[in-house]
Amino acid sequence: MTTRLWCDSRFELHVAGPMHPESPGRLAAIRSVLDRAPIAGTTVEVPRHATREELLAVHREAHVDHVLSLQGRSAQLDPDTAMSPGSADAALLAAGAAVDATVAVLEGRAANAFALVRPPGHHAEADQAMGFCLFNNVAVAAEAARRHGAERVLVLDWDVHHGNGTQHVFEARRDVLFCSSHQFPYYPGTGAPDETGVGEGTGYTVNVALPGGRTDADYGAVFHDVFLPIARAHRPDVVLVSAGFDPHRADPIGGMNVTERGFAAMTSVMKQLADEVCRGRLVLLLEGGYDLDALGQSVHACVEVLAGRRRDEFPDGASPEARAAIAATRAALGNVWSART
Ligand SMILES: [Zn+2]
Repeated sequence: MTTRLWCDSRFELHVAGPMHPESPGRLAAIRSVLDRAPIAGTTVEVPRHATREELLAVHREAHVDHVLSLQGRSAQLDPDTAMSPGSADAALLAAGAAVDATVAVLEGRAANAFALVRPPGHHAEADQAMGFCLFNNVAVAAEAARRHGAERVLVLDWDVHHGNGTQHVFEARRDVLFCSSHQFPYYPGTGAPDETGVGEGTGYTVNVALPGGRTDADYGAVFHDVFLPIARAHRPDVVLVSAGFDPHRADPIGGMNVTERGFAAMTSVMKQLADEVCRGRLVLLLEGGYDLDALGQSVHACVEVLAGRRRDEFPDGASPEARAAIAATRAALGNVWSART
């Protein structure tokens, strides 16, 4: 079985504006690295538009209709989020690719998958576009997974920004566990450690709020001490990753200090987790990442891990700042997971 990549030049039809960091060049950079150094055991798939029904599993009808009404036009949706004539098509393809990647993995037609899409999705709320995002691709994929028989889903978000939209969609539920590491306080302002879910979903939202400057070793501590034990206890049927590369040390927006090796280590431990709990069913979805060279190299490293060509470990030496953030998250979760981790 192969690692399937959803990658298509039509994602470059979405133009958020001149000098906007979320540029078509991001995917061009990724495609160029993958073309220059092809990875054996991978295939490239052609995305299709998400259906209305797939989008409505997450989004309000008014939001879907609003985005679709702007097909072929330009519009400013919020101070950071704009549409060009090709944006609605790209957003439909991004959500469709997220669903197809997830279903291919669930049905055993792919060993694992990476949906290399834009616009990104994790800031999009049920009823509005936000923070460069039109539709919440990972949330749409998680709902599709549930409809395709996955009883429990893990969404892990390592983008430097908190995935507010994803959290809000699932925060009152236990079937979709949401784990996020992010710079805090930072855009969008949510993601404090005491945001642990709502009602019966309490404990199923896990936020590790990190100060800027965190390293590969710090992320290693977050994954090994928080995410992995909770994820093993949840026993997901599929693992979805909001893979943002803006924690990279070269990123012009994020303030973290992560390297390509760090992202490869994150992918390695998620692959190992998926092998342990759900027959390797792992899907990465592209979120942020704004230094073109760092983005291309980091994605390439992660695809090599998915294809079984490399496996990385986190270095030792987590900082006191990371240890404090981990302790705050564990304290906020109280005994929700402690009996099982
Ligand atoms: Zn981001």
